[in-house]
Amino acid sequence: MNAKVWLVGAGPGDPELLTLKAVRALSEADVVLIDDLVNDAILEHCGNARLIPVGKRGGCRSTPQAFIHRLMLRYARQGKCVVRLKGGDPCIFGRGGEEAQWLRERGVEVELVNGITAGLAGATQCDIPLTLRGVARGVTLVTAHTQDGSSLNWQALAQSGTTLVIYMGVAKLSEIRQQLLAGGMAADTPVAMIENASLPHQRECRSDLMSMEEAAHDFELKSPAILVIGAVATNEKIKRSQPAAAPTGRYAGSM
Ligand code: SAH
Repeated sequence: MNAKVWLVGAGPGDPELLTLKAVRALSEADVVLIDDLVNDAILEHCGNARLIPVGKRGGCRSTPQAFIHRLMLRYARQGKCVVRLKGGDPCIFGRGGEEAQWLRERGVEVELVNGITAGLAGATQCDIPLTLRGVARGVTLVTAHTQDGSSLNWQALAQSGTTLVIYMGVAKLSEIRQQLLAGGMAADTPVAMIENASLPHQRECRSDLMSMEEAAHDFELKSPAILVIGAVATNEKIKRSQPAAAPTGRYAGSM
């Protein structure tokens, strides 16, 4: 049997948001290596597979990436059907790309299966349309956390006219606010902070760019959470500009 690893997205938490392909891969798996943002309820689909937790949460006990690589390789070479189950989508801040490359370089067949990424799910659960005709012409997914200390081009983001969806931002609220304000984003740009999106204990906190840090503090916002920043994140009725009109209105600075 060919060595094969499936890199599967478990979605944001709600088991009903799994894809049918993910369910099939789990039901056929011999071994499942599980990230710690995966909801346990999803493991019901695993049949008789051996379940191995390999969490990597920032600041907590974590499994070294090199060990996870070797584990996948070992089981695949034994001819086992290996599923690497990741929260959200495997290729959105999930190392799916690097794991696939590492395995393929060693002759292992890899199949990627999309999951619904937390940013998209969180927005939808809060009735936030990430793009909206006349309001937001696009959406940008970014992480506030970098291992090499490199910085995003915040000015470009502030002026992009797209809705910003920020992952791993809970500990970086102060920097995010300061950089976006300095980049020219309007202080009253709406912000939604969504914790545990799609899970029964989901919570959401609405604020604006200027006040988001204090609002998150009062709300005791905890990880995992995503931030949605842009005119679409308001819970008031959204005022659409006319097509082709010059950008006007409250949030024009963020467009
Ligand atoms: N691959 C994942 C992202 C992993 S990075 C995906 O596509 O969703 C981990 C970050 O994702 C967390 O710090 C948080 O910002 C976000 N996240 C993951 N699950 C979440 C959830 N259920 N609710 C809110 N944010 C979540």
